[in-house]
Amino acid sequence: MINRTLAQIASMSGGTLAESDGADTKITGIYTDSRNPLKGGLFVPIAGERFDGHAFADNCIAEGAGAFFWQEDHGAPPAGPAILVRDTLKALQQLAAAYLKETRAYVVGITGSNGKTTTKDIVAALLSTTFRVHKTQGNYNNHIGLPLTVLSMPEETQIAILEMGMSGREEIRLLSRIAQPDVAVITNIGEAHLLQLGSREEIARAKLEIISGLKPGGLLICNGDEPLLPSVLAEPETERPEEMKIFTFGLLQDNDDYPTEMTTHDKGIIFTTKKSGAEAFDLPLLGRHNVVNCLAAMAVARQLGVGMEQMRQGLAGLKLTGMRIEMILCDNGLTLLNDTYNASPLSMKAAIDTLGGYSPKNRKIAVLGDMLELGAGEEQYHREIGRYAAAAGVDLLFTYGPLGSHIAEGAREQMAQGSVHAFSDKDELVTALREELCSGDVVLLKASRGMKLETVVDALKEAN
Ligand code: ATP
Ligand code: MG
Repeated sequence: MINRTLAQIASMSGGTLAESDGADTKITGIYTDSRNPLKGGLFVPIAGERFDGHAFADNCIAEGAGAFFWQEDHGAPPAGPAILVRDTLKALQQLAAAYLKETRAYVVGITGSNGKTTTKDIVAALLSTTFRVHKTQGNYNNHIGLPLTVLSMPEETQIAILEMGMSGREEIRLLSRIAQPDVAVITNIGEAHLLQLGSREEIARAKLEIISGLKPGGLLICNGDEPLLPSVLAEPETERPEEMKIFTFGLLQDNDDYPTEMTTHDKGIIFTTKKSGAEAFDLPLLGRHNVVNCLAAMAVARQLGVGMEQMRQGLAGLKLTGMRIEMILCDNGLTLLNDTYNASPLSMKAAIDTLGGYSPKNRKIAVLGDMLELGAGEEQYHREIGRYAAAAGVDLLFTYGPLGSHIAEGAREQMAQGSVHAFSDKDELVTALREELCSGDVVLLKASRGMKLETVVDALKEAN
């Protein structure tokens, strides 16, 4: 993590020391949550919607902080080593940008509607065979999380792999300008955040903001199956670096890289790609969408000169951030596919495809809940998922939540009445599932984060 003197931190963040004493004190690390103080670190109070972190600056030195930021419009700072800044959030972002430059780390920025965290984890697995890498932890991918990720990076990091998330326009532009990536990845364009952005074109524009901070001559690795990306890229107002290079990946054969063969086994998928010829890779993840994520990650690795054998080793050691289509084999013979981390139409379809790919010997059961934040077309999107599940060969469908009931409606157009059950109460859903499920069944569970469907996974595991 960052390790600089107070004077250096003041200069890097555009602030001034409140008192000249202690200018040479070393500060190690940065934190914004006063409940988790970092001994010898810099406390950055941020004004949020409900609390203003400045209220906790008083105590931070007693709790072990080495110093703290203080926003000038908040009056006189409490006693202690303060760095005065105009805006604590902007100063945090400026500090992160300066630190990233000083470390000279090569920066990989990753955005997209779905698959950012997964792709980031795969990139890290591929590159860590060869380089010292640092990656976003959990989902620290926004205007506060990304600077904190950067500032927690060891000085000797060679590659910083940064996830960039958004819920509206201009957010990715800000992150990209802080990070100034050497390589930018766009995993895909989906319908997540349609409510805030209004159209898929706007979503594509928001994702393409990632190239606004891309270094001159930098590489954009983007999903070529998405026709909106080239059309938005061609818009004159799209800000881009000089001499940007583009590499496309996807399932379609006009991409620079696509899978040539895929064979699913019970722990993942063995695949070959156009770029790697006859060399086969074993991805320990389920779902064709994860092969697509892997192609994006392999393009990053190739750009950095990582060889096939190292990539293979990297994939073998892959560890994912949890609840993303995690396979749980229960002692009673049930297979649970826990994809409860989040859901949007694109990711629902990808997960249903994964379930649909199971052998006809197994009963395929989907437990699907509300997809939130879809805006005016939400009922339609849910009905469409119901039809998609029916067409994919799902044997039994359980839905949960008010929007989930529209998934059931869509499914009933093609599935027998007795195969589709809609629930509004989670306990009743669990009871019904416990009665129905038996050995050999494969059960996919998926809904938006707000539905907390992982509690159903836990209940089913307990019943085991
Ligand atoms: P968030 O916006 O919450 O940070 P994310 O973009 O980081 O999400 P992941 O956490 O990698 O995405 O994956 C979330 C879910 O998206 C997964 O559980 C999976 O269902 C789905 N998903 C992942 N990759 C793809 C893809 N390439 N296409 C469609 N769906 C995908
Ligand atoms: Mg994520």
